Amino acid sequence: MRGCITMEKIGGMFSGAMFLILGFLSMHSWYSSNISFLESLPSFNEATLGATVNLDDTLSFGARPEVKTRTSWNAPIVWELMFNPDLYDRRHQEAKTTVALTVFAVGRYLDAYLNTFLTSAEKHFMVGLPVTFYVFTDQPEKVPNITLAPLRHLKVIKVERYSRWQDISMMRMKTISEIIEKELRHNFNYVFCLDVDQEFKGRFGSEALGESVAVLHIYYYKLPKTQFTYDRNPKSKAYMTEGDYYYHAAVFGGSCDKVKALADYCYLSTMEDKLNNVEALWHDESHLNKYFWLNKPSRILSSEYCFDPLIHYKTEVIVPRLVWAPKQYTKLRT
Ligand code: UDP
Ligand code: MN
Repeated sequence: MRGCITMEKIGGMFSGAMFLILGFLSMHSWYSSNISFLESLPSFNEATLGATVNLDDTLSFGARPEVKTRTSWNAPIVWELMFNPDLYDRRHQEAKTTVALTVFAVGRYLDAYLNTFLTSAEKHFMVGLPVTFYVFTDQPEKVPNITLAPLRHLKVIKVERYSRWQDISMMRMKTISEIIEKELRHNFNYVFCLDVDQEFKGRFGSEALGESVAVLHIYYYKLPKTQFTYDRNPKSKAYMTEGDYYYHAAVFGGSCDKVKALADYCYLSTMEDKLNNVEALWHDESHLNKYFWLNKPSRILSSEYCFDPLIHYKTEVIVPRLVWAPKQYTKLRT
C-alpha cells in the first residue's frame, strides 16, 4: 500500500540508518587514523621526485652530439656529460643497491696487475655503494691485503690454472656462472666481470648499472661494421655475419640472472667448439659478441669505461675511467 508504514519498512529504515551511522563511524575512524599519516608525508621535493622518476629519463641524450648516445633498440650509450652522478648515487644508496665485482688473476697476471687493479677499484668503482670484490686465483696467499672502505669486502676463491692462456680466459665464464648460482644471486643486485689488466683512473659509478651491460671496444666504436672482427668461421658457435657493435669482453655486467645467462651461453658455446675442434677468433670475446647480438644489452657503456691510453688517434673520450694496463704477452702468458 502506497504511503503506509509497515513493519518491514520500519525494519528497512532502521537498518539503513544503522548503515549510515556505522559508515560514518568507520569513515571517521579511517580519517582520524590516517590524518597523521597524511600529515607525515614529505612535501613534494626533489627527494620524492627522485624516487618516482625513471633514472634514465634524466640522461641528456643530446649532451654529446658528436657520438651516438642511444641504440636502435633504445638502450642508452653512456658518455661523460650525459648523466648526473649525484642523482644516480643517491638513488642507488636509497635503494641499498649491492654490487659484486669478479676478477681473475691466474699465474703471472697476479703479480703483474692485481694490486693496481684492486687499489684503483677501491678509489673509483661504485664508491659509496657496498661492493664485494671476488678475486679468483690459483695463488690465494699472494693476493694483496688492501684497505677497504666500510661496507666493502674482498673474497678470494681458489681456481685451477689451465695450461693455455686461451682456456684461462674462456673458462672464466664457467666459474662466473657457478659463483652467481651459488652465492651472488642471493646477495647482490648487480655483478660486473672485469679483466685484471686494467686500472681505474676516474669515476666508474652507479650510472653504469643496468640489467645487461656491455662496453664499446675503443678500437671499433667509430669504424664501419664491415671492419668488426666478429668470428667469421661457420664452424664456430661464435660465427656471425652481422651485428650491432663490437663489444669488449674486458668489461661486462648486469643483474645476476642476466650475467649468468651470458656466462652460460659463452661457456656452452666454448665447449661445443671444443667438441668440434674449433676455437673462436677472439675466444670469450667472440662468444660474448654473438650473445649480445642475440640478446641486446639494455645499457651500453662508452669506451670511457675501457680505454686504451696508447691509442694513437683522437677519440671522443673526455674522461678515461678504466684504462688498459700495458700488455706484456710474451712475459705473462702461458
Ligand atoms: N688471465 C689470467 N691469467 C692468464 C691469462 C688471463 O688471470 O694467464 C685473466 C686475466 O683476468 C686477464 C683475462 O684473463 O685480464 C683476459 O686475458 P688478457 O687480459 O690477456 O686478454 P686481452 O685483454 O689481452 O685480450
Ligand atoms: Mn685484458
